[in-house]
Amino acid sequence: MLEIEWSAEGGWGKPQISPFHNLLIHPAAKALHYAVELFEGMKAYRGPDNRIRLFRPMENMNRMNNSAQRVSLPTFDGRELVECIKKLVSLDADWVPATPGDTLYIRPTLVGTEPTLGVSPPNRALLFVIASPVGPYFPTGIKPVTLMADPRYVRSWPGGPGEYKMGSNYAPTLLPQVEALQKSCQQVLWLFGEDHQLTEVGTMNLFIYWINEDGEKELITPPLNGLILPGVTRRSLLELARDWNEFKVSEKEINMKEFLTALNEKRIVEVFGAGTACVVCPVERILYNEEKFALPTMDNGAKLVNRFLSTLMDIQFGRVEHKWSEII
Ligand code: PMP
Repeated sequence: MLEIEWSAEGGWGKPQISPFHNLLIHPAAKALHYAVELFEGMKAYRGPDNRIRLFRPMENMNRMNNSAQRVSLPTFDGRELVECIKKLVSLDADWVPATPGDTLYIRPTLVGTEPTLGVSPPNRALLFVIASPVGPYFPTGIKPVTLMADPRYVRSWPGGPGEYKMGSNYAPTLLPQVEALQKSCQQVLWLFGEDHQLTEVGTMNLFIYWINEDGEKELITPPLNGLILPGVTRRSLLELARDWNEFKVSEKEINMKEFLTALNEKRIVEVFGAGTACVVCPVERILYNEEKFALPTMDNGAKLVNRFLSTLMDIQFGRVEHKWSEII
């Protein structure tokens, strides 16, 4: 694991890589009481050429620095941390799986360690990075998920910290997630506002491919209006789709009424989540107001889902050369 200490007086210390170990942390450390904490999620991919790559790592570093600023933790030079992570992954190269679809998941984390109970920005912090091999998200082929949409639960709100990747955004999602599982849904579809806007899917960004009110083919995802975690996958899919230039691509809000009208009029083509874990994940059903709504994603062949999946995985695993891939 990689560790870098920070103090208000001395700034960032020297990065250290050492064998994986438990942390010794003071029981009054602010991270343990006030969630002065943030994290990132990224992967290392071994290609058929046996080289290991990171996917757009600076995107994660920029998001991490934005989170740090919001949660009063110190910011850092993102490029320097990418270099440290590359060093860690190259030392741990044996842990980067060679089996197709398997990856090394990398978890950069930053915690406030100042051992005082005052509610104030910490004067000490620890940045650490741990990693673990993970299997493919769809070991037996792409599988759709069912979502629970319940407006009693809100993940994010205007002026809140929902667009940052900090631990305090995730603990409150566990209870609704358990409820979703009890109702035979795999994930929560997060709604917001009186009009029940669709915002995110579990820990993924939401995409809807539909025929819009004007009869045009359009890919939409909610805009970065402060409620949405700015996903690296989200950004990549938008850039790919705009580059293909085959259908309209929009970042815009959509509410349940508009969505269900389109579903009723058979204008919904594919619905999917997007994130580092799965790349894309098709949605086949939504439970909303105790009513089940079947979505046609799989019946329509999940063509766009599959195209995004293979295009992005080819880039991530280095099967095609691309500027988004950084060789370690
Ligand atoms: N939304 C939320 C709430 C998330 O936690 C994540 C995972 N980081 C995403 C979306 C997807 O982001 P990314 O594509 O960067 O993994």
